[in-house]
Formats: sequence, structure tokens, C-alpha cells
Amino acid sequence: MLELSRALYLCAMQLSENQLSVFQGWLKPQSSIIITNHQNPDGDAVGSATGLCGVLQKMGYQVLMLMPNDYSENLKWMTLADSVRFYENDPAYADAQIANCDIIIHLDYNSLKRSGPMQEALSASAAKKIVIDHHQQPDDFADILVSDTSMSSTCEMVYHFLAALNWTAHLDKNLAEALYTGIATDTGNFRFSSTSPATHNVAAHLLALGVESQKVASRVYDSNTPSRFKLLGRALNNMEVLPEFHAAIISLSAKDLEECGYKKGDSEGFVNYGLSLIGIELSAFVCPRGDILKMSFRSKTTFDVNALARKHFEGGGHCNAAGGSSNLGLADTISKIKALLPEYADELKALANG
Ligand code: 5GP
Ligand code: MN
Repeated sequence: MLELSRALYLCAMQLSENQLSVFQGWLKPQSSIIITNHQNPDGDAVGSATGLCGVLQKMGYQVLMLMPNDYSENLKWMTLADSVRFYENDPAYADAQIANCDIIIHLDYNSLKRSGPMQEALSASAAKKIVIDHHQQPDDFADILVSDTSMSSTCEMVYHFLAALNWTAHLDKNLAEALYTGIATDTGNFRFSSTSPATHNVAAHLLALGVESQKVASRVYDSNTPSRFKLLGRALNNMEVLPEFHAAIISLSAKDLEECGYKKGDSEGFVNYGLSLIGIELSAFVCPRGDILKMSFRSKTTFDVNALARKHFEGGGHCNAAGGSSNLGLADTISKIKALLPEYADELKALANG
């Protein structure tokens, strides 16, 4: 018997009977539901939205996935793509949907700021709101906040949520593949410390539902393009290693992007190369996105990049993976990172030697 009892799933995640009954109380046969996620949706955002959307649709609810902007090609195989709309493509349509729906489910983000252009409409909507998310320090904007920073992924949380509601029978192979994708991508393929026994139990049940893990991995990861590899060459070439701080900074300039024929998603994961260097505890990646510079931070063990991104780069995320932004130019942003490192030198050194 692969599926654990409902009681066990309630224990696995911070979720109360009261939250479940309030949510169930919202559901009426004619309820219209919008599922949203953060800007530049990743595997966990698209996977969790798809998995939950599919189950709710099978139960007869009218559900629309509304994402701030498009997601990368290597996730386009996922089922229910026809139930997704992108805010950026038709804001007037999206605003009307947000204003008139009954329930909004916010997945894989915990601050309305992270929904980019949708922020105002979401904030103004009178719909009931629920957040299901695993990032640190949630904002207080929803009626129900299901927040558990120990969770590997929002996809794992959605599974526990469905299990607690006794709804997993609605999962089929396609929906299971969506949830599996987010678990696999957010755990670095079951590598990060957030991967718990419960994570593997969920994955086991999804596999039992028919998930073809090799196919999923191939679709997600064997998706490199010549432009991505050209950019990776540039990024690694631009990398600065600061052994005294156990840190690496990888950057791309607007010129790099242009000359390599950058396409959306091409620089995904570059930040991890810095962290894979011997003796490195902190990796930063800086890259232009529109008018600003987008930053990614990664760390090992206990170095808290969420705190660093929050304090210095208007960002956030998790302890070991966070992002932020900068309005300074590229050179000044890199200088700012370097100037911050002495503040963290002792901690980084202790971790590297620990
Ligand atoms: P990535 O570096 O892959 O873009 O993001 C790493 C983690 O940090 C993800 O969980 C992402 O949701 C979060 N994150 C990325 N950028 C930001 C940001 O600007 N603000 C906040 N609060 N979180 C971010
Ligand atoms: Mn996530």
C-alpha cells in the first residue's frame, strides 16, 4: 500500500483541520476558481498549478490557471496547457477574471509582489484567497495561509493537501507527472536537504500512478539549446571566484545576452555552477532582465541566502536558494556583492571548514 493514511499526511505538513474545513466550506458546485503563481513560473509553479487544477476540474469546478507571464519551453509538454492564460497577454481579460472569481489559490509564492503585474488585481479582488507555499516569511494577505518552509516543493504540498482532503483518487498519470516535475526540479532531483521521507513517499505514489520519470527528466533537462550553451560559456568565463570568502559570482551582460541570442530560460540554473566548485559556500548570479538586474543566490547547508537577498536586494526565497534584483548597473551590482562579503566572511569560512 503506497498511499499513506490521511492522518500521516496531515502530520507531514503544517496544515490544520480548521484550514481544510474552511477551504471546503468555500466550495460550491458553481464555484469559479483561479490558480495563480509567481512571475517566470518554474517547474514547481507550473506543476503544482496543473496538478491542483486537474483535480478540481475533475471534481466539476470551473478552474483557470492564470500566470503572470509565459514559462519555458521545457515545461510546455505538461497537461492542461489549454487551461492556462498569461496575464501579460491580455491584462483586461485577466483583470475581469480575477475580479469575478470566487476563490483564488496562490501557489509557490507568498507575497503578492511576486505576481508582478497581477498584484493590484489580486489585491483588489473580493474572492476568498488561499496560499499554499514553502518560501520563507509569508506576507499576510490570504484568508488561509498554508505555509511550510520545511517542504521540498509546492508540488509536494499540493499532494499532501489533496491527500488530507481524500482527493488523490482524482490524480491520473498526467497530473501525477506535473506534480512529480515540481518535486524533482525543486529538490535538484531529490538531492537537497529538503528531500524528506515524506517527499519520497509522495514520489513513490506518483510513480505508482504511472509517472515515467525518465521521460519527465528528459523533457525537462535534455532541452539545451545552442544559445544556452553559448551563454553558459560566457557566464563561466565571466565567473569570479573569491576563495577568501568561499564565494563565486557569475554574471552576464546585456551584450553577452545579445551576442549569444539569449532566449527566455537560457540562463536557468547557471548559478549552481558556482556552488559546485570545491570550497565554495555561496554562489551569486547576476543577469539583466528588462530594465533591472535579476540576481540568484545559492548556498550549501545553513548559510541563509533568503536573509541576504531580503536585506540587500529586495528579494527572498529559501535558506539555500533565493533571488532578488538590483537597479544599479552590472559593475556596481557586482561591487555591491563584493563589498557585502566581509560581513559574512566568518560564517562562510566556518561553514567551509566545518
Ligand atoms: P531563482 O534564483 O531560481 O530565480 O529563485 C530562487 C528562489 O528564490 C525561488 O524559490 C524563487 O521563488 C525565489 N525568488 C527569486 N527571485 C525572488 C525575488 O525577487 N523575491 C523573492 N521574494 N523571492 C525570489
Ligand atoms: Mn517552489
